[in-house]
Amino acid sequence: MEDNPLLCQEGEVLPIFIFDPTILEPLSKNDRRVSFIFNALVHLKSALRTRGLDLAIFYGKPADVFGWLLQNSSYHDVCASGDYDAYALERDCEISHLIEFTYLHDTYIFKPDEVLKKDKTPYQVFTPFYNCAKTLFTPEHMDECIPCRQSLIDFDYTLMHRIDKNTHTTYPVCLESIGFEPQTLTPHHTMTPQQKLTEFASKLAAYAHDRDYMIKEATSYLSTDLRFGTLSIRAVLRWLTQQKKSGTDTEPFFRQLIFRDFYAMLLYHFPHLATQNFRYRFEGIPNDDYFKAFCTARTGVPIVDAGVQELLETGEMHNRVRMICASFFTKNLLLPWQWGEQFFAQHLNDYDAASNILSWQWSAGTGVDPQPYFRIFNPYTQSEKFDKEGRYIHKHLDGNKDQYPMPIVDHKESSKKALEYFKSSL
Ligand SMILES: Cc1cc2nc3c(=O)[nH]c(=O)nc-3n(C[C@H](O)[C@H](O)[C@H](O)COP(=O)(O)OP(=O)(O)OC[C@H]3O[C@@H](n4cnc5c(N)ncnc54)[C@H](O)[C@@H]3O)c2cc1C
Repeated sequence: MEDNPLLCQEGEVLPIFIFDPTILEPLSKNDRRVSFIFNALVHLKSALRTRGLDLAIFYGKPADVFGWLLQNSSYHDVCASGDYDAYALERDCEISHLIEFTYLHDTYIFKPDEVLKKDKTPYQVFTPFYNCAKTLFTPEHMDECIPCRQSLIDFDYTLMHRIDKNTHTTYPVCLESIGFEPQTLTPHHTMTPQQKLTEFASKLAAYAHDRDYMIKEATSYLSTDLRFGTLSIRAVLRWLTQQKKSGTDTEPFFRQLIFRDFYAMLLYHFPHLATQNFRYRFEGIPNDDYFKAFCTARTGVPIVDAGVQELLETGEMHNRVRMICASFFTKNLLLPWQWGEQFFAQHLNDYDAASNILSWQWSAGTGVDPQPYFRIFNPYTQSEKFDKEGRYIHKHLDGNKDQYPMPIVDHKESSKKALEYFKSSL
């Protein structure tokens, strides 16, 4: 409701949300993200009503939905704030053949062609991208979208509309109507973005130092809101400017927000990165037993299993633990990064194609801006450094302490094997 460019389009409007079976069908019926989105939609629907608007909810392939809408009435154009992953771009392109499509820049700070090298090609390394982004950043990048006058097109807003090719059926507006079961969400899912910003304000000054310590809860927990648009990136930037005015060093946090832009920009310009390596031929070595042990938190390496356990139980995982797990997966276990990426995609509440894919490629040493292949995280020294008293491990692993397995690989031996593998693949 706040800072939404869709509410700045003057005129007669039919606000809609489409649940897309292409995205939903592969998910398990108890997917937390669908519950999160559904709750947000119900909230949005009632908030729009207070402004004399409403929200029509559809289930169907977007092209079918627009086809059906256009058959039954006439519309001038469709406006959307979208994302840049390959599926989204293809979908929006398909819709643009049916109806004029206005793409509103909303999700990221910069447009994908805004921060480019002097020769107009995309940056491939983060630090120069970041330095350039800082010089290009202006107050306009945080401008708030102020709603204008909109009137509501007559429509049945009380039911959910299911469109299958040309067939139209209606259902009650509830999660079960789209085949999902309501889930209990964590406090990080149920707190409003505003509450999170207020809580994070007191942690911002220590962010650069504390963010790596898993048990400290020193980060913002805003990734799911940024991913699903329940908070605008411009609102975060305006909040950050306020913090800066009161003397806090905001740069370390700003840098992480730019990381999000960097990854989105990379996937936009190099869509093949979704599945293919950019650099180096490391393919990994498929091993179902290792993969199963990793996915069930049974590798015998406590920090890795604690991270996976946290992911399975809550849909969350601390950034440092994501890095440790991805390194262990791609280096010590030598598994293909695509497998790990898919596993995270299935479970992360904040799953975002660009951030997840590019982070996995970074860890595997295969990406545009990779971590050098010879740098292998030692999960034990990482634990010792960032979870000194083992509180994070205890929090997530205490339940299965009795039958805890021996490590499936020895760190020293598996690192040596990995280095030999990488050298032979170069
Ligand atoms: C293997 C791996 C997979 C990842 N997958 C995802 C993913 O699917 N979705 C996702 O949003 N992030 C992903 N990240 C990045 C990072 O772990 C999360 O953004 C962060 O943990 C979210 O917690 P927070 O909101 O408290 O972050 P904060 O530390 O408070 O950071 C603020 C915001 O900056 C952005 N951000 C922070 N760090 C990164 C980063 N390294 N890369 C990109 N953006 C960042 C996020 O939008 C985050 O909400 C991944 C990292 C790794 C190593």
